[in-house]
Amino acid sequence: MIRTAHAVINLSFLAHNVAQVRKAAPNSKLMAVIKANAYGHGLSRIAEALDGLVDGFAVARVQEGVSLRNAGLWQRIVVLEGFTEREEVFDLLDFELEVSLHSPHQLEILKHVHRPAPLNVWLKIDTGMNRLGFKPDTIPTSYAQLMACEMVKKPLNFMTHFANADDKNDSKTAKQIALFKQLTADYEGEKSMANSAGILAWQDSQTDWIRAGIMLYGISPFSDSTGAELGLKPLMSLHSRLISVRDVATGETVGYSGTWTSEKATKLGVVAIGYGDGYPRYAQNGTPVLINGERVPLVGRVSMDMITVDLGLNSTAKAGDSVTLWGEKLPVEEIARWANTIPYTLVCGITPRVEILESRHSDTFF
Ligand SMILES: *Cc1c(COP(=O)(O)O)cnc(C)c1O
Repeated sequence: MIRTAHAVINLSFLAHNVAQVRKAAPNSKLMAVIKANAYGHGLSRIAEALDGLVDGFAVARVQEGVSLRNAGLWQRIVVLEGFTEREEVFDLLDFELEVSLHSPHQLEILKHVHRPAPLNVWLKIDTGMNRLGFKPDTIPTSYAQLMACEMVKKPLNFMTHFANADDKNDSKTAKQIALFKQLTADYEGEKSMANSAGILAWQDSQTDWIRAGIMLYGISPFSDSTGAELGLKPLMSLHSRLISVRDVATGETVGYSGTWTSEKATKLGVVAIGYGDGYPRYAQNGTPVLINGERVPLVGRVSMDMITVDLGLNSTAKAGDSVTLWGEKLPVEEIARWANTIPYTLVCGITPRVEILESRHSDTFF
């Protein structure tokens, strides 16, 4: 079958990216963050490929942990959002999942669960993110209550999450690190702070465990660099093909609302990809698209199933030619900037309509 919109996940790059994480944080254990369908790359595909390369996994939801166990994964798995209801505690226990405990109401639920095997708990401390976690002044009492709870495996572990680690000039991260270290200094148990930006920009945040997400997929956590510039290789590339080439005269508008007008006669290419595939609706005029290895600018609005590009008057591109929307030669970080978003949303946002192919070649075949 001839393919239109499809993504290629190059699994041979994973080991390289893991090695880069290990190089950046040689003394920490590595928890691979594979929530949200492994950032759009496929949960079980990525988990299986990482098997043996990392020390544990983290997901956001209980269901994600359960699917990993059902896929045969036996390593440690931490559920970062924890549980909200009692039933979920039984799933965590049945599937031997570890849990981030961030709210007093979870503690209340745990106090009323009685099972023979305890739960491995990470006490989440809110050091400034103000999303999940116990407030600093409540740590001594929460710690005591958790230690007294029969369902909590001892010793207790600790984690926190950074709000601004991607900004190397923001002093907030140093404050979060200091606060976390101060609050947990007297307690045994494993400690974890760093996400990808923390690993790369804040060495002090590398404790027992680091939690790497975006950089494993070869993407930069910073807005001013690409994964390639950090020595990483992007796993995902997104492709489709040209389905029509047409002439436009000077002064014609293109697409919905006519947001682009041709300044001179040119050839317009229509590509079979749109927001229905996860290509960002807010990609602006000028967003680069690769056709036959050459960059051409997106022009006009992104529609559900199509985009239009300015091929130039002398282009020899024709219907059927292959198109790359992002990948090794066109960083997803760059597309994110054109669409006023972050690369996380682009890779997470690939829709089920996009066929996913796996590659294990060390060089790209597109
Ligand atoms: C998503 C997430 C991470 C991973 O963040 P990256 O920026 O992708 O490395 C780490 N910790 C927590 C709590 C998260 O929610």
